[in-house]
Amino acid sequence: MTRAESDKLKRMVKMNAHMGIRMGELYPKVESIEIHCELTHRSFCGAPHEKRTWTVTPQDEVYFMIDCLNNECTSAGFDLRDIVSSAIQSHQTEVSGEMRCEGREAPDHPEQSCSGVLKYTIKVLYKQ
Ligand SMILES: [Zn+2]
Repeated sequence: MTRAESDKLKRMVKMNAHMGIRMGELYPKVESIEIHCELTHRSFCGAPHEKRTWTVTPQDEVYFMIDCLNNECTSAGFDLRDIVSSAIQSHQTEVSGEMRCEGREAPDHPEQSCSGVLKYTIKVLYKQ
């Protein structure tokens, strides 16, 4: 796979992950979803590290894809949709865990798995 083919595939997966629906329509009982993420990617040039935190409110679009820190990664990123939806279905207020990237290290390194890791904590605030 070439870099261009890989990028095209990533764009398509991301487009599909956009459901075009607002959080308040999908989860009417939820006031806000707070997402804390810590991304790492080990490579020969070090271990870049990044923290992100954001809040999803009822008028925001439902989109829970997070880019892998590895620029050349073949995966479109980490998809937290299922984790968020199962947390809300079971009425949990906080879930946390870790996901390994399912991509390859680079389009021209198909034999090597990406070393990207995402640690997440998702806090759900329900309407009273
Ligand atoms: Zn990756």
